[in-house]
Amino acid sequence: MPSIKPLPDKPLSTPNAPCPCGSHTPLNDCCLPFIEGKCNAPTAEALMRSRYTAHKLLAIDYLWKTWSPEQRIRSSKEEIHQWAASCDWLQLQILHTQKGKPGDTEGIVEFVALFRQGGQLQQHHEVSVFQCVLGNWLYVDHQ
Ligand SMILES: [Zn+2]
Repeated sequence: MPSIKPLPDKPLSTPNAPCPCGSHTPLNDCCLPFIEGKCNAPTAEALMRSRYTAHKLLAIDYLWKTWSPEQRIRSSKEEIHQWAASCDWLQLQILHTQKGKPGDTEGIVEFVALFRQGGQLQQHHEVSVFQCVLGNWLYVDHQ
């Protein structure tokens, strides 16, 4: 079993650092406002990026909140935390997006996330499906 890293005291304490999602924008001007609940991600890609960043910051409540209700019953918050904390998140690459713009109700984002787990470099390649419900983009499933 991979050991669980303790939660950092101030996981969101570097708002001026480049955002982990790879946008070349400071965290504070990129994913952080969504993760802190100040505003909603305007697009499926923005939600995808902020969910990646939330894995890195161990913002588990945000990961939970941006899951569709169908996904929430699959894992507990503790399981999400265990998974996110067991990985060293290295890089996110968005490969392709389809719809997912403001005003759309559905969006698709294909991405590759690079991470290290148990000393091994791994990549997670996924085509994710998102839905916008009352102005909130939610992660629904993958294809
Ligand atoms: Zn970001």
